[in-house]
Amino acid sequence: MDLISSFIGFFSIKFSNKSPDEFHNYWYGKIEGLYWVFEWIIIFIVVGFIFYESIEKIINSSPIESIWLWFMIMIISWIVNFFVSQKFLAEAKKHHSLALEADALHIRSDTYSSIWISLGLLLIWITGFQILDPIIAILVAIFIAYKAWDILKKSILTLLDMSLPKQEIDKIKNIVISKKHIHGIQNIYSRTVGKNIFLEFDLIIDDDLSISQAHDIVLKIQKEIQNIYPYIQTRIQFEPFPQSKNKV
Ligand SMILES: [Zn+2]
Repeated sequence: MDLISSFIGFFSIKFSNKSPDEFHNYWYGKIEGLYWVFEWIIIFIVVGFIFYESIEKIINSSPIESIWLWFMIMIISWIVNFFVSQKFLAEAKKHHSLALEADALHIRSDTYSSIWISLGLLLIWITGFQILDPIIAILVAIFIAYKAWDILKKSILTLLDMSLPKQEIDKIKNIVISKKHIHGIQNIYSRTVGKNIFLEFDLIIDDDLSISQAHDIVLKIQKEIQNIYPYIQTRIQFEPFPQSKNKV
């Protein structure tokens, strides 16, 4: 399942990086949101499978053979998964990639499950209580399902064009109003789609400026905002100051 989800993740990252075209003017960031849904479905199937296997094992219990071997495999698995998820998270941050982040969270939850399972195996080994095996499996399944909820939440927020958080908007406001001839900013609309951000606002600007002067100010503002968010597109409308003289 991990292999399938990473494979699809690879294509979703490739596809979501496509430049906008005639048919899709707003980039392909939603692909990453769809990938989160896919990750969630994969995890859900795994959880269902673990539940099914555990219940079956409780009914027809059969002892685990060569516990020490599974124990070693689990230890290797969580060490490897831990470093892989660490690397994925760092890359996800660097490339503003939601798909990489989803996979990183998935692998991270695999790491935790492996730790639980190795501890459980150790416990079965020491106590000889075979029933612990399906019980631990069910606990792990509940844990994975709980973690998967975060993934689903994030995908829904991405697909529903979540706005930028308030503190980010405040940061942008501060950049804008620090400029000369600017008297304020209003009607701010933002939406984040994957790594792409779309931002619109009205700029209240001195009405005695020429169009090219106002345009220069806007370019400066756009550049500064872009330094913070490399994948942002801003659309700015002018409102003359004082506002009472001209109404748009
Ligand atoms: Zn997994």
